[in-house]
Amino acid sequence: MLVDREQFKEELIKQVKNDYSQSIQSVSATEVYISLAKTIRHLISDRWVEHKDTVRNELSKQVFYFSLEFMTGRLLKENLIKLDIYDMVESILKDFDFSIDEVIESEREPGLGNGGLGRLAACFMDSCACLGLPVNGNGIRYNYGMFEQRFSEGNQIEWPDDWLRGDNPWEIRKENRTQIVKYGGTVRFDEDSRAIHENYDMVHAVPYDIPLIGNDAKTVNTLRLWSAELSLDDSELNSIEYSKMEEKRTETKKITNVLYPDDSTDEGKLLRLKQEYFFVSAGLQSIISEFKKTKLSLSEIPNKVAIHINDTHPTLCIPELMRILMDEEYLEWDEAIEITKHTISYTNHTIMQEALEKWPAHFLKNLLPRIYMIIEELDRRFLEKYSNLDHETLKNTTIISEGYVRMANLAVIMSYSTNGVAKLHTELLKTEVMKDLYNIYPERFNNKTNGVSYRRWIESANPELASLIDNTIGESWRKNPLDLAKLNDYTDDPIMLDKIEVVKNIKKEAFANFVRQKYNIIIDPKSIFDVQIKRFHEYKRQLLNALNILYMYHKVISDPNFKMHPTTYIFGGKAASSYYRAKKVIKLINSLAFHINSDPRVKNRIKIVFVPNYNVSLAEKIIPAANVSEQISTATMEASGTSNMKLMLNGAITLATLDGANIEIRDQVGDDNIVIFGLNKQEVLDYQKNHNYNASELYENNPDIKMVVDSLVNGFLPKLGYDGIDLYDSLLKENDRFFVLRDFESYHEASLQIQSMYRERKAWNKKSLINTANAGVFSSDETIKRYAQDIWNVKGIY
Ligand SMILES: *Cc1c(COP(=O)(O)O)cnc(C)c1O
Repeated sequence: MLVDREQFKEELIKQVKNDYSQSIQSVSATEVYISLAKTIRHLISDRWVEHKDTVRNELSKQVFYFSLEFMTGRLLKENLIKLDIYDMVESILKDFDFSIDEVIESEREPGLGNGGLGRLAACFMDSCACLGLPVNGNGIRYNYGMFEQRFSEGNQIEWPDDWLRGDNPWEIRKENRTQIVKYGGTVRFDEDSRAIHENYDMVHAVPYDIPLIGNDAKTVNTLRLWSAELSLDDSELNSIEYSKMEEKRTETKKITNVLYPDDSTDEGKLLRLKQEYFFVSAGLQSIISEFKKTKLSLSEIPNKVAIHINDTHPTLCIPELMRILMDEEYLEWDEAIEITKHTISYTNHTIMQEALEKWPAHFLKNLLPRIYMIIEELDRRFLEKYSNLDHETLKNTTIISEGYVRMANLAVIMSYSTNGVAKLHTELLKTEVMKDLYNIYPERFNNKTNGVSYRRWIESANPELASLIDNTIGESWRKNPLDLAKLNDYTDDPIMLDKIEVVKNIKKEAFANFVRQKYNIIIDPKSIFDVQIKRFHEYKRQLLNALNILYMYHKVISDPNFKMHPTTYIFGGKAASSYYRAKKVIKLINSLAFHINSDPRVKNRIKIVFVPNYNVSLAEKIIPAANVSEQISTATMEASGTSNMKLMLNGAITLATLDGANIEIRDQVGDDNIVIFGLNKQEVLDYQKNHNYNASELYENNPDIKMVVDSLVNGFLPKLGYDGIDLYDSLLKENDRFFVLRDFESYHEASLQIQSMYRERKAWNKKSLINTANAGVFSSDETIKRYAQDIWNVKGIY
């Protein structure tokens, strides 16, 4: 242990006194949280400094993980667990009549992410710190995180997420590491043909560092988040009018004001591009200036630094690194290319055409003239080198095409590694989406199936299950998650199966209590908890789930012989503010909840709970309580998914299409312990290529489908009003791009299969245990070991 009880208690009392000039007895839980977090930060500060010194002195290779999102969730509890002081702190707080839960819950969750990609970055940072790998995060300190979702009349309302209100005790402002980021201006070349950038606007990038604490603080890495601030030189300060200055200040601060500015307008898009360049430029400048302190030759960069770009958002790392090496360090093109290509690696997260980032060339040209020149030259060199290839191949692989800069192409061409995030997804990259790039650079492509952090998703979120596992197979799984497989020896042990059910019931009751207190909704812990929690997107097909519930509702009220095990359908998730149709699905589910929950004919056989503002803290409450994990995306469209892994780990049975990592989950648990339905990859690809799907035909020929779809528009759900029309049109007029109607019947069959499986409770518990037992491979520790070895070539430093 890093510290003894008395010493820590004294430090905490002192910290409260320093922060508030009050005694600990007289402050609120929120204030105790803030002082407690600061006490912890001080406790690990020696280790943090030592870690940085060790890396510097031993010239260890370091990784910088660039991501536009880091959805860390609350940090206090996880840090207490990693430092092994949870129990001690709980008892100290009790001395002052604070409950540890109350203190933990008063931490405001940083909403610095939007979904799976941001949460993956957070799980990865956690794993790196716990594996002793020198990996640092680089991102943006948004003033307002992802919006806070509320419902009004069933509609999503977006409120600003003012998470920084008050104090963020985990961060340290590093004024002296401020960088300058330049936008706009012009470029000329001097007599040595060196590019000179002039007449630009300057913005200060100020870093805030957050410690990423490994077990026992043996390793403390850094999450560095950049904030945009006004930059004026002295002459400007003396000449500028006050009102002009304030105007400029507001304009500057906009750059890091919100996550995901609404990009439905050109102005929103431009802001997004500014953000992307902002944290890329600031991050790279600080990395290179640190590197130069080693006095090593710049050609050594790839041996000492790995830069990983999480999806294409940070792809400007490529031309920015080139710019720094050429314009500031005076390297030649070929040298700069060599270094860049061996330093940067890239993870692709989507194959959906509309999600592959491309920027209008004139945006880049105006906002980042020098960067655009570099991209043009890289494209010219690519075309020159591969001029022997056929026209079609070149059309698909060039960086600039039809007035757009294609970021994924740039990322593949100018990096040494491109990975997909599940086996199927990587396969699709190679054979479909990036086929031509794969043919040119086959050795660059590799798979790294996503993973999730065990510390957060079981040790912290489900301590009851964690200690049941400890008592059954010992604690080794906490260090080596593959040891969870030892649970496979207990799948026929009736006592163990009972205990699995007891733990699940405790978590279901806890969630039911939470729902009653917070939303005033009564749910039955004995019902099946059927969970779909994820961003709202058409490809994730919450609509399919909703249509099945609607169908079940019809049957329950019209068919006295229809037997249904009481089921609570739990939804959580936000729709992007500009995503009109996803918002209609939210409205549909809220309308269904309104009608079904209050219909006495249903007799509580169906309940719907749609928790607003889904985030990490809510996930931690829902996932341990889940019986069924809904993973029902259209095959080929979900790159991996990670809620599928978290739910499996917590013993939920997966109800899924053969998409993303669901396939690997099936491989782990076997066909008997998962329920699969729907079109597979080949069938979806065939429909898309042959254009022979006909949704109206399904609608006309299948009376059940017709009844359900008609219920969207015929007034069956009065609360839905006219909002069902758009959904109806998406299915019939637009020929159902996501094959909802095609999969409807097999999905309904699968949901009935779940129902009958749940009636055999012993067998169900066994399936549940088998899921937990075989989830070890989906630990992000395992994933990160493969990144470290195959991509980054870094080693642990202790
Ligand atoms: C895990 C997680 C996600 C990702 O869910 P998917 O089902 O994989 O899309 C999104 N949001 C939060 C808060 C999460 O914890």
